[in-house]
Amino acid sequence: MHDVHIFNTMGRKIQLFTPLHEGNVGFYGCGPTVYNYAHIGNLRTYIFEDTLVRMLRRFGYRVTHVMNITDVGHLSGDDDTGEDKMLKSAREKGQSVLEIAQFYTNAFFKDTERLNIRQPDIVCKATDHIQDMIELIKRIEANGYSYFSGGNLYFDVSKFDHYGELAGLQLDQLKAGARVELDPNKRNPFDFVLWFTKSKFDKQALIWDSPWGIGYPGWHIECSAMSMKYLGEQFDIHAGGVDHIAVHHTNEIAQSEAATGHRWVNYWMHAEFLVLDKGKMSKSSGSFLTLESLIDKGYDPLDYRYFCLGGHYRSQLSFSWEGLDQARSARLSLLDRVLALKEKAVKPASISELGQKALRYLTAFDDALADDLAMPRALAQVWSLLKDNDVPAQDALALILNIDEVLGLDIAKAQRREVSVDTDTVQWINSQIQRRAAAKKARDFATADAIRSELVARGIQLEDRPEGTVWRLIE
Ligand code: AMP
Ligand code: ZN
Repeated sequence: MHDVHIFNTMGRKIQLFTPLHEGNVGFYGCGPTVYNYAHIGNLRTYIFEDTLVRMLRRFGYRVTHVMNITDVGHLSGDDDTGEDKMLKSAREKGQSVLEIAQFYTNAFFKDTERLNIRQPDIVCKATDHIQDMIELIKRIEANGYSYFSGGNLYFDVSKFDHYGELAGLQLDQLKAGARVELDPNKRNPFDFVLWFTKSKFDKQALIWDSPWGIGYPGWHIECSAMSMKYLGEQFDIHAGGVDHIAVHHTNEIAQSEAATGHRWVNYWMHAEFLVLDKGKMSKSSGSFLTLESLIDKGYDPLDYRYFCLGGHYRSQLSFSWEGLDQARSARLSLLDRVLALKEKAVKPASISELGQKALRYLTAFDDALADDLAMPRALAQVWSLLKDNDVPAQDALALILNIDEVLGLDIAKAQRREVSVDTDTVQWINSQIQRRAAAKKARDFATADAIRSELVARGIQLEDRPEGTVWRLIE
């Protein structure tokens, strides 16, 4: 098995990865809150987690990947402030919480499938695990880490010695400079709710009976309860986006270790944000890009996957259309080179019989992966390989297909793009462009958008220029 080094947010350093049980990895990644579509920033984090799992499996580890679906308890502030995100969305859309949850869960998995993100081994919904959460909260309570105040059960962070270690928070200093606390029931501003019984809203749709009264769980407890249920009370890797370090993961650690009395997770890995023009992309602000919106513009989901692979997961990645265009042309030219190799080589070599030169690329690729998932370096090796005429075609082909296990770019499916249009089609496209212009003039934007979408579905991209609308075939 190849040695793997990863950056552990706990302690903030690169460490040799040693699983608890040799050859097996328990991995938990925080899943989506299903009140809206995932934006492409969220999807960057899931692409990172998928690449991590693919890398570990490539090196021979048996990974159990668990992901939760948050369908209750996540308030609009990560710190227990605001309204439940699910309830708010249900009210705004005039649907039930369960309908909203089902709709966006399906949309999420449709997106991940299109991005070649492999389905986790276990996907678990918060609302299916309320009893597990209650049992865990009982243990936290029995160990003396909680208090009941104003109708809610709180976690008392002052009782937990290592509170804030993950984020490097110094509780004493923070207390002095803390913002005015909105919840007067808290003893300490960093205390958080384990179980709510006092809802701020009249029609709380999802409520359960519990030893503390009828109510619903705080957000953080679901990840502690479900990860322990499926991976055991101690496991190897927990991941998520960097926004989760200070509150969500910090609180997950406090309550999990308060319940068990021992260490919970050995390695914490966090993906940096995708940013828009240096700004934040957030789901709650409503202004965000979905995968669907990229597809509508004529991009292949794998263009976005390639775009993400081009940045290290611990660096911010700045999204731009030019950047996505570059990723698309790089991906297409990679496929073209693979096709050329296919035409040259009778069949791929066997991976165990590669020549010296090809083997050197294989080693360099794997070394980059094993060095805290250095995907940009790994991709650079792919390009050097494809440009190296000294590597026999059958070796290069075998290698690139093997490497695609981790890249997930569907390289084996590469085909020549046969594109041609006859005069009837050209006439039809032009008539659609005219119809769309007329619809726009009449301010009937729904029809105009529908015409554009239909053209995209048929592989034709429109571009509005000052001199008029032009079209091109989507590659
Ligand atoms: P949520 O559905 O809001 O719980 O977020 C799902 C995942 O996406 C979490 O792991 C977040 O940390 C992550 N995330 C949120 N915003 C971004 C962003 N702009 N870039 C990358 N990851 C993000
Ligand atoms: Zn979580």
